[in-house]
Amino acid sequence: MLLSVRHLRLDLRPRGWWPFRRPRGRLIDDLHLDLRAGEALAVVGESDRELSALFHLMAGARLPTSGSIRYFDPAKSARAPAQELSALPPGARSRLRDEIRLIAPPVLTGRHGRRRLAEFLGTGRSDDSAATRAQRVGLDDALLGCRLRELDAESLRRAALARALIVPPRVLLCDGLFEDLDDGARARLAELLRGLQQEFGFALVFGSSRLGDAAAAAGRTLVLYRGRVMEQAATADLLHEPKHPYTRSLLEAQTAGAMRPRRPAPHGDDAPVMGCVFHPRCALREAACVRSVPHLRKTGAEHYAACHFVGAVEAMPR
Ligand code: SF4
Repeated sequence: MLLSVRHLRLDLRPRGWWPFRRPRGRLIDDLHLDLRAGEALAVVGESDRELSALFHLMAGARLPTSGSIRYFDPAKSARAPAQELSALPPGARSRLRDEIRLIAPPVLTGRHGRRRLAEFLGTGRSDDSAATRAQRVGLDDALLGCRLRELDAESLRRAALARALIVPPRVLLCDGLFEDLDDGARARLAELLRGLQQEFGFALVFGSSRLGDAAAAAGRTLVLYRGRVMEQAATADLLHEPKHPYTRSLLEAQTAGAMRPRRPAPHGDDAPVMGCVFHPRCALREAACVRSVPHLRKTGAEHYAACHFVGAVEAMPR
């Protein structure tokens, strides 16, 4: 075990001034997650904001409202206590970023976009050259002289990966790596991630709005909706036997979209939802769904779903 997340919650800041402050719901709500050494986990959801918030919390770059994120350092003895990220002082949290690294597509505004690729890859404590780092992620040497803003979206993602691996981390968190890419670029990037993970042995967590990306690069998948885990399972199980109506809707959207899977309509506002957060969009909704929150329960080996009526989902035609 490398990371253990329990009862994680991140509230949005209330709107307005006291005494008229209005609560605005949650980005992350009672989230549980375990990450094992060397595994690849996909977090699939339609809200980039929620996925990004989760990755920042897991990297210790943002503090949760409540809950715990514990890091088990493999370099320490098995009896050493795990480190609670939110309890670490800021200096210790930033030192931990060498081991738990968060990456996102490079920023292109202002002077960031004017940096040349060689300069972007040339930093850090390592003897290998920028050219070696570029080759590792399939970037042509000819691109080293280009400015970042001149590179296409796929090359920018490859550059972000190359930079993250100058000193390989134990956990690599990829935020927004697949977004705004076409199908071919997504497939190539997934293949690259698989290869890099085999070569360096890090645990990988990446976010995506598509189950197809999870199928291509992750052994396990967690489906997130309005900050809550709807379902988690081995990716193959989740794709072949989804147990939650939301996972079903994501799969159907992907199948209907054929070449370009359509994202389901996102939830419109941050207002808290009573009961099951998916009930306003669920075709199987019953009175119980509005009354009480369904918690994750085991529906098979390593397969969990948060729905009161898993049996009804299984009976639905596909
Ligand atoms: S608990 Fe009810 S509303 Fe929620 S997903 Fe299951 S059937 Fe749908």
